[in-house]
Amino acid sequence: MTIRDEVLAANEDYAASFGPKADLALLPARHFAILTCMDARLDPAKYAGLSEGDAHVIRNAGGRASDDAIRSLVISYKLLGTAQWFVIHHTNCGMEFFTDDVIRGLLANSLEQPHSAPMGSTTSVLGPGRRRRTTSTGSPSRTTPRGVVEDVARIRAHPLVPVASRSTATSTT
Ligand SMILES: [Zn+2]
Repeated sequence: MTIRDEVLAANEDYAASFGPKADLALLPARHFAILTCMDARLDPAKYAGLSEGDAHVIRNAGGRASDDAIRSLVISYKLLGTAQWFVIHHTNCGMEFFTDDVIRGLLANSLEQPHSAPMGSTTSVLGPGRRRRTTSTGSPSRTTPRGVVEDVARIRAHPLVPVASRSTATSTT
């Protein structure tokens, strides 16, 4: 069974047992959003006690306050009624090893996936890269223990963030 088959089978089971959750409201019932890392070891539903329909969860590499993450938070607030935002980073994050400069350099050299490059190493040039601004991760810097503080400050200062929503909470797992 391929990964694709596994995912489709799991989704079929999930959809079959969805039941009354199909009637959940579009607006998050608990009126909050979480910005967190995409790390496969993290399960926001478990670490924050969420069920379907409870909250928005926005994920990216490092849980950074990129422009796109802030865009999602603003939509969450303005259109979908969240009143609190949590920025949650974690220890041993893979993004502790990368700066934006490293990522930009990797993407500029090659858009191919490294075959066996360990964390933080560079990959061989396997294909044409792209030296455009679109290779920016949009985050201020690599994830550090103080990154969560930087991200909350960036969110609070962002021109799209309404003043009323600047009571952003922070947490670190
Ligand atoms: Zn992480």
